[in-house]
Amino acid sequence: RGMASAASFRFKDLEIELTKNPQQKPEPSELVFGKNFTDHMLTVEWTSEGGWKHPKITPLQPLQLHPGAKALHYSVELFEGMKAYRGVDDKLRLFRPEANMERMNSTAARAALPNFEGEELIQCISKLVEVDKDWVPAAKDCSLYIRPTMIGTEPTLGVSQTEEAMLFVLFVRRNRNVNLGCHKNIILPYFVAYYHPQPTLGVSQTEEAMLFVLFVRRNRNVNLGCHKNIILPYFVAYYHPQPTLGVSQTEEAMLFVSFVRSYRNVNLGCHKNIILPYFVAYYHPQPTLGVSQTEEAMLFVLLGPVGSYFKTGAFNPVSLMADPQYIRAFKGGVGNYKLGSNYGPTIRIQKEAERRGCHQVLWLYGDDHQLTEVGTMNIFMYWENESGEPELVTPPLEGIILPGVTRRSLMDLARGWNECKVTERTFTMQDLIKGLEENRVKELFGAGTACVVCPIDRILYGEKDLHIPTMDTGAVVCRRLYQELTDIQFGRVSHEWVRRI
Ligand code: PMP
Repeated sequence: RGMASAASFRFKDLEIELTKNPQQKPEPSELVFGKNFTDHMLTVEWTSEGGWKHPKITPLQPLQLHPGAKALHYSVELFEGMKAYRGVDDKLRLFRPEANMERMNSTAARAALPNFEGEELIQCISKLVEVDKDWVPAAKDCSLYIRPTMIGTEPTLGVSQTEEAMLFVLFVRRNRNVNLGCHKNIILPYFVAYYHPQPTLGVSQTEEAMLFVLFVRRNRNVNLGCHKNIILPYFVAYYHPQPTLGVSQTEEAMLFVSFVRSYRNVNLGCHKNIILPYFVAYYHPQPTLGVSQTEEAMLFVLLGPVGSYFKTGAFNPVSLMADPQYIRAFKGGVGNYKLGSNYGPTIRIQKEAERRGCHQVLWLYGDDHQLTEVGTMNIFMYWENESGEPELVTPPLEGIILPGVTRRSLMDLARGWNECKVTERTFTMQDLIKGLEENRVKELFGAGTACVVCPIDRILYGEKDLHIPTMDTGAVVCRRLYQELTDIQFGRVSHEWVRRI
C-alpha cells in the first residue's frame, strides 16, 4: 500500500466546489420534512486499501453507484439525524453533535463500515452548513435537518471484471416501441420501468405486466454483440432513488436484475413489435455477491430545511397503534443502531396504523408487551409510581432501544430539576393500564430530534382504546422539557450542549 490507510479523513483536506445553479429556497410554511434539500452536499469516499479520501463539498448531485453495491443488496447503510438551529441572535448552532458522531461510529462498527474521527466530521458539517447558511430558516422553530449517511459501495459485480464476465439482462416488454440504439460506441441510457401490482419477473405474467429494465451506460466502451449465439457481457448502472428522507412509502422505485450464471443460449429478437423475454446471465469465475465486509464505502451528508413540528405552536397530541404482532427490534439484534435496515420494514406498519385511525406505531416487545419506542422516537412516561413517587420513566438501553440524543438530554434536564425520580426501566402495557385505572399516569410522550417531545393522547391496543390523559393534565412535564431544550437549541439560554457554527 503506497498510501497508508487513513484512520480518519481530515477537515483540513476539505475540497469545496460551489454550485453555479443555486436553487430557490422554499417558504418556511411550505416545508415538509425530508422533501427539501439545500444546494450542497458533503461526500467522503473510503476503500479498505487506501482508507479515507479527502472530504468534498459539491453541488447536490446524484451518486454514481454500481448496482452491485452492497448497500443495495444487503442494506449496508446507516444514517444519523441532527439539526442546525438559527438562534434568536441569528447565529447558527449544532446541538450535541458529538453525541451523533458517537452513535454514528458505533453503528458503523456494527455494520462493518469504517470509523472516523467525529470531530473531523463535525467540522466538515459545520462548513457545509456555513456554505448553505441561507437555507437555515429564520422562522420560529424551523431548523436545518442534517442527514449524515454511510453506505457500502463495493461494486461486487465490478465493471472492471467484464474482461472475464458475462452479464445478461432480462427484458420483458409488451406493446410498446422500444428504442435500442448505439451512439459512438456507447449504449445510450435506456429507461425502463416496471409496472405490475405485484412485481415479479415471471415470464408467465407478461400478459399483464410490463417490465422494463433500465440500462444506463455512458462514457464507457461496451460491446453489444452476439458470439456463437451468446450475448456478450453487458453491464450497466442506474441510480435514481426517491430523494425524500421521511420514513414513508417510496414513490419511486427501480427494479434491476443481475444474474450470476454460466452461459446460456439467448435469442434476441422482435416479434410483432414486442420484444420477447430475454434472458441474460452473468458469469464470473469468482461471483462476489457474498455477504462479506465491504471494501469500499462512502460517507455523505445532506441538508434540508424543516418546519416547526408543531405548526400552530400548540402541542398536537398523537394516537398510537400498539399491536404486539409487529416487532421493531429484538434482543441480540440491531435495534440500538441507526441502520437503514431497521426503518424500511416499518413503513407498511406505519401505514397500517394510519388505516386503523392512529398517527403512529407504538412498538411493543416481549410476551409482557413492553413499551419500547414510538415511531422513530423514544418513549417517556411521567407518572406516580407504585410507591406513590412522581417519576419520569423511559425504557433502558438494553439493545432494542435507539439511544436518542433527545432522550439523554431530557433525562439530564429532568434530573437537574430534582423534583422527580428519573428512571430507566422497562414498563409494560399492564403497568400502563393499571396506572391509568388508578389515575397515576399523568403524561406519555415521544422524544426525538424532529419534534423534541410529542404528547400521546390515545393508544389502540387490541380491543382496548386507551385514553391517555397527557393533554388533560396540561402536559406540564413535556411542555417544560420542550421549552428548556428549545431554549438551548435556539440560543435563548447558553449551554455547553450547543456548538456555534
Ligand atoms: N428512536 C428511533 C427508532 C429513532 O429513529 C430516533 C431518531 N433518531 C429516535 C428514537 C430519537 O433519537 P434522537 O433523539 O437522537 O433523534
